Amino acid sequence: MPSDRVTDDRVIIAGGGIGGLAAALTLHQIGVPCIVFEAVRDMRPLGVGINLQPNAVREFYDLGIGAADLDRVGLPAKEWALVGLNGNDIYSEPRGKLAGYHWPQYAVHRGLFHLLLHDKVVERLGPGAVRLGSRVAGYRKHPDGSVSALVEHADGSTSEPRGALLIGADGIHSAVRAQMHPGQPPIHWGGAVMWRGTTWGKPIRTGSSFVGLGTHRHRIVFYPISHPDPRTGLSMINWIAEVTMDSSEGWKQSGWFRQVPIADFVHHFDDWIWDWLDVPALIRGADGAFENPMIDRDPVPTWRDGPVALVGDAAHPMYPTGSNGGSQAIVDSRILGACLVEHGVTEAALEAYDARLTGPISQLILRNRGAGPFGLLNMVDERCGGTFDNIDDVIPAAERAAFMAGYKAAAGFAVETLNKAPPTLAPGARVRMAAVAV
Ligand SMILES: Cc1cc2nc3c(=O)[nH]c(=O)nc-3n(C[C@H](O)[C@H](O)[C@H](O)COP(=O)(O)OP(=O)(O)OC[C@H]3O[C@@H](n4cnc5c(N)ncnc54)[C@H](O)[C@@H]3O)c2cc1C
Repeated sequence: MPSDRVTDDRVIIAGGGIGGLAAALTLHQIGVPCIVFEAVRDMRPLGVGINLQPNAVREFYDLGIGAADLDRVGLPAKEWALVGLNGNDIYSEPRGKLAGYHWPQYAVHRGLFHLLLHDKVVERLGPGAVRLGSRVAGYRKHPDGSVSALVEHADGSTSEPRGALLIGADGIHSAVRAQMHPGQPPIHWGGAVMWRGTTWGKPIRTGSSFVGLGTHRHRIVFYPISHPDPRTGLSMINWIAEVTMDSSEGWKQSGWFRQVPIADFVHHFDDWIWDWLDVPALIRGADGAFENPMIDRDPVPTWRDGPVALVGDAAHPMYPTGSNGGSQAIVDSRILGACLVEHGVTEAALEAYDARLTGPISQLILRNRGAGPFGLLNMVDERCGGTFDNIDDVIPAAERAAFMAGYKAAAGFAVETLNKAPPTLAPGARVRMAAVAV
């Protein structure tokens, strides 16, 4: 078992999810030593589909994780479409390179993608870089400006590794955030419940389309997350079935994420059958399903406390309506890296990071709470009760396009802006090591 001793010039990362591992790869790239403490004992491919927007894919390319890697865990997305219950299109647009981005958008299997990142961290930083079975319960700041993480190990022992900075990448239930903001309100649930699963099926439309079908209170989203199997032509289809219910009494189940029998919820979609899609069959074809309420947290005024900063869901847990929580976790880590290059491994770097992101991303949390890009479905409901023959009579094309452009600009993936922006981290950028000592 490698020693837990951490020299004072290292950065400690709490949480080895997508955000924590992207931070570790970034720190390694810019020459800053780091160590990741992850609560789970084994890395397993958990979760179903997530989207990596072009702004995040760009960062992976810059980290040397390219199409060959991403095509093993997902496929480039070609289209984003909203369809009404009558089967008519409400809105559709090309995605990724087809939309003019210099980088693709990828739809990936979250668990396989997570394992890919873990493999890259172990390959580049060494097997001791990620300490599994190590839960960070909190932190202690020291008068010399350094910080230690209070770590509880799976064997019952505890340790207090010290470093120059601590990055809290420990997800929506973050212990680091809870200590930073002891008065934060509890998790917020707005009434939507999601059931998620994957089913092998024939991809429709472009062969790699994200389809949101239904109304804003009752819908299913589905998209392929694997290239088709050359023998069968079938792809793994990720689906999220969603119903909004009365949330006035709060979430009644004990956990936020649990496996449930398909029979518990498929009845909500019994008559959702068209000649191009059979939703009950799609749902029943899955090996299993997970139920989780759509939750987030109210924004906090800062993601920083001296030498401690938050990234990813720990900083900005948000509704997945914009398909950008995972992407933002990656972008956070890269911007943090850029601030370290500029200011050294110092509190000033965390201050610059906080100043750059906390305000705009807090706005995005609230925007996603208001349905994010699915807001178009709210507009259809308000204007015609969800039934229409021609969408142009309900929301003119220009209004639909302006709505989507506004969302993409807020989420940092407006096409022109992203294409023109210089890399977040210039090739070869390194932290001046003299600045590392605390
Ligand atoms: C099991 C799981 C399944 C998911 N499935 C989906 C999905 O199917 N679709 C989707 O869109 N999004 C899913 N997500 C969320 C999505 O991955 C995140 O929104 C996004 O990637 C942001 O990543 P993050 O690293 O900030 O947070 P997370 O992905 O939540 O990662 C946080 C990590 O920190 C670890 N951790 C938690 N507390 C501590 C602690 N105190 N000390 C040390 N480690 C700790 C966790 O085990 C986890 O590995 C899932 C998340 C998890 C954890």
